[in-house]
Amino acid sequence: MKKVGIIGWRGMVGSVLISRMIEEGDFNRIEASFFSTSQSGQSGPLINEIQYTLKDALSAESLSEMDIIISAQGGDYTKEIRPKLESLNWKGYWIDAASAKRMDDDSVIILDPVNKAHIDQSIDRGVKNYIGGNCTVSLMLMGVGSLFQHDLIEWMSSMTYQAASGGGAKHMKELLSQMSVIGDEYEKIQDSNILDIDDKMSSLLRGNDLDAKNFGVPLALNIIPWIDSSLDNGQTREEWKAMSEANKILNLEQQIPIDGTCVRIGALRSHSQALTIKLKRNIPLDEIESILKSNSEWVEFVDNNPESTREKLNPRYVSGTLKTTVGRVRKMNLGDEYLNLFTCGDQLLWGAAEPLRRMMNILL
Ligand code: NAP
Repeated sequence: MKKVGIIGWRGMVGSVLISRMIEEGDFNRIEASFFSTSQSGQSGPLINEIQYTLKDALSAESLSEMDIIISAQGGDYTKEIRPKLESLNWKGYWIDAASAKRMDDDSVIILDPVNKAHIDQSIDRGVKNYIGGNCTVSLMLMGVGSLFQHDLIEWMSSMTYQAASGGGAKHMKELLSQMSVIGDEYEKIQDSNILDIDDKMSSLLRGNDLDAKNFGVPLALNIIPWIDSSLDNGQTREEWKAMSEANKILNLEQQIPIDGTCVRIGALRSHSQALTIKLKRNIPLDEIESILKSNSEWVEFVDNNPESTREKLNPRYVSGTLKTTVGRVRKMNLGDEYLNLFTCGDQLLWGAAEPLRRMMNILL
């Protein structure tokens, strides 16, 4: 059996990864080792009645005994450890959730329902680094990848609605603690007139009583149209990833322009995005619908009516599932070649953990 080392298993992405690997019986196919940067020597997870003891994730020698390493530990860790493995002449496969190596020439961004052929060719060519894509990019392609595959897209604009969990566990807790303070305040004043309630809530948002050290400002009752660091062209790094990563995943020579605004909203888990697509030609809506439905077994097409949209086109419906819902599909007033649609998916599953465990299985 292949030796597989797992780092970052107790973080947000890593926890979801382990629970999916248990669900799918992946641990029956591998000889697993668990590593930690901070808890080496302590007890790790108990899986299939095996109590794992944690190895040192900072020991390149110990890691180099693995055939495959899966890291959900973060980019700083990747930058520190990957070159050390290189210098030990390690020949194993590196599978990673962090962005650090995504755009490197010696890496492939993995999303096998969309780019399995490219992954297979890369394995044959000897590529050793397989990196999960940015969550919104992966979810966008899980939703509308078939429109790219049918070469229908001239350009795309993506406006995102990204959940707190995109920042990890502490961001989720911060949002919930803000909501709890807001709830307590509301309980005291709920019988007041609405303008007084509004005034009180607005003061709460502008004051210092809500814990906002991770997001910078309160996210509850608010939005933040800025995710990740800034680039010289005015984009955020999150916005830059849309075009660069999507084109790399699709392995396109002729780049398709993609741009938009990434917005953090007060959803707990699962990202949504509104897409404006300039089609290469005027295609009837029913044809577009059947192309979208043929995308993969995980796409659920949502009819463009209020009931289905409210029920299915949101984080409430997709969270904790592998479904990607696609709806609000209609032509726009801008012209017959302009398509509007909206898509939702769990960014911890297809947006992070799922491509990693599937890549391990492809290699096995
Ligand atoms: P995270 O929850 O902050 O976990 C990362 C590491 O923090 C853990 O493996 C753990 O390492 C350490 N840690 C310290 N205190 C902890 C605690 N109380 N509970 C759990 N872990 C603790 O990070 P993440 O959101 O999973 O992200 C991991 C990587 O995946 C990042 O590169 C991120 O950019 C990428 N990613 C995230 C998402 C997402 O939606 N969150 C999506 C796609 C990609 P030790 O055991 O070694 O101490």
